[in-house]
Amino acid sequence: MVDILAIGAHPDDVEISMGGAMCVLKKQGYKIGICDLSRGETGTYGSPEIRKKELEAANRILSIDKRITLDLPDGNIQNTEEARVKVIDVIRELRPEIVYSFVTDLTRHPDHAHAGQIVKECVYLAGLEKIKTHFDPFRPSQLIYFPELFINRKPDIVIDITEYFEQKVEAIKAYGSQVISTDKERAEAKTFLRSDNFWDILTTRAKFVGSMVSIKYGEPFYCDLPIRVTDMYRTFIKDKSYK
Ligand SMILES: [Zn+2]
Repeated sequence: MVDILAIGAHPDDVEISMGGAMCVLKKQGYKIGICDLSRGETGTYGSPEIRKKELEAANRILSIDKRITLDLPDGNIQNTEEARVKVIDVIRELRPEIVYSFVTDLTRHPDHAHAGQIVKECVYLAGLEKIKTHFDPFRPSQLIYFPELFINRKPDIVIDITEYFEQKVEAIKAYGSQVISTDKERAEAKTFLRSDNFWDILTTRAKFVGSMVSIKYGEPFYCDLPIRVTDMYRTFIKDKSYK
């Protein structure tokens, strides 16, 4: 069982989208889990076997308590009953109070949009007693959304990842088949993840989002409902170290 479950379409989605927040949550003492809906077999580089080794390395860097990789087809993740039953079972098995997944209207990769929609439906469906699966019914308290790397809408929530930005970068670098590690690879790069642009945008986004709430590095999130705030002082006070 975990407190937090982040669900992506491919291994590396969670690390790129909210690797910093996972570090924050772990530091705060929560049990953190990841579910990848696919093994990433359609990626231009790497293979399921390589990507499994890479995600295990990323797990160690982020101290992930539990990770489940499903076998939905990479490049063709669809909101089918079969897919929903698998995701419902993951939610019921791990019983997270908070689930994170892709916001569906800010994505370019169809798998990311479909993953977000599947997770949104399954967070609700997992609580219905008459839907029988391998595990008992359970409904999380809240679903929060993360975007792809590109954002074009003001986030509802920004998490301060200033202390953990480097740890997030290390976790992404664990995916050696997806990102560049040598000059030769840089010269031959065919994908965005292997371009220098990727690291520029990753850093720029963290700084841009962070600047919105007067911190150095932030990660953006979205939610369907208003946030209940319990500390009207700490939540809103400016970080005085940020100039
Ligand atoms: Zn992805």
